[in-house]
Amino acid sequence: AKDSGRGHHQFSTPGMADHAMASLQLQRELHTAIAENQFVLHYQPVVQMADGTLAGFEALVRWQHPRRGLLAPDEFIAFAETHGFISPIGRWVMREACRQLKAWHDTGLPQVPVAVNLSAFEFRQRDVAGEIAAVLAETGLQPQFLEVELTETVLMQQSEQVLQTLQAIKALGVGIAIDDFGTGYSSLSYLKRYPLDKLKIDRSFVLDTPDSSDDVAIVTAIIELGRSLKLRTVAEGVELPAQQALLTQLRCDLAQGYGIARPMDALQARAWLAQRQQS
Ligand code: C2E
Ligand code: CA
Ligand code: CA
Ligand code: CA
Repeated sequence: AKDSGRGHHQFSTPGMADHAMASLQLQRELHTAIAENQFVLHYQPVVQMADGTLAGFEALVRWQHPRRGLLAPDEFIAFAETHGFISPIGRWVMREACRQLKAWHDTGLPQVPVAVNLSAFEFRQRDVAGEIAAVLAETGLQPQFLEVELTETVLMQQSEQVLQTLQAIKALGVGIAIDDFGTGYSSLSYLKRYPLDKLKIDRSFVLDTPDSSDDVAIVTAIIELGRSLKLRTVAEGVELPAQQALLTQLRCDLAQGYGIARPMDALQARAWLAQRQQS
């Protein structure tokens, strides 16, 4: 809208000021949120495809905002990453997930692992392996009950540092999963470079199955790829019985999605875990 001339200029200036104000306010609020610990974890079950038994939980962060209510990660994680807040949030998530699982283990509930998401920013900025080791020691959670989920953005960096960090995490006995598989880059060379355990098929590929034959083909190929590379495959975003049937038929190892269970707060997740014990 070049011809809008001054009008456009006058319109955009306060818009930008508003934006800067909103950004400053969000930064202030995140600062407080970290200081006052306004975050909570929700837990989403991951089940074995073959028999529906619980295979573990994924920990998903939420922000209990004093005015705006419970905020989903999509509303603050990207901002936290670019404004220097992701490390304290990530550290809290890791510690809280391990503390919670250890507490459940100690009360005699079924011992299942928990997966924690790590963003590319966190991976670059911190000694992640060292911090994980410290959190495991502090909480007493055994390493085989922790898994980290990384996106392809991290794995695409052909760096010695990424390799060393992943090897160090692996050496601790902590699992490593690739998150949102298929949405990143087209290169698959990282699959053989790094010590990975699991491949999580992005929800976007599962969404239109079984109707879309293209998506069925993609999901089939990813599961085959995982099997050949001895990686466990997890289908994300499983909502329909027909999708569960397809994935079972394709011998996908694990499934996660609203059709199985939604992410739930710690109390509900505990009840879910306790129920599993009886069956
Ligand atoms: P993700 O790691 O791919 O997590 C799965 C997301 O899909 C979750 O959204 C979950 O609620 C949602 N989901 C699960 N099953 C279904 C389904 O059947 N249908 C649909 N439509 N959605 C489903 P959530 O909790 O809003 O998290 C969004 C993203 O935020 C996560 O995607 C992850 O990338 C990021 N995130 C969450 N927690 C953390 C964290 O502690 N640290 C970091 N760095 N990122 C996090
Ligand atoms: Ca994830
Ligand atoms: Ca995912
Ligand atoms: Ca994601």
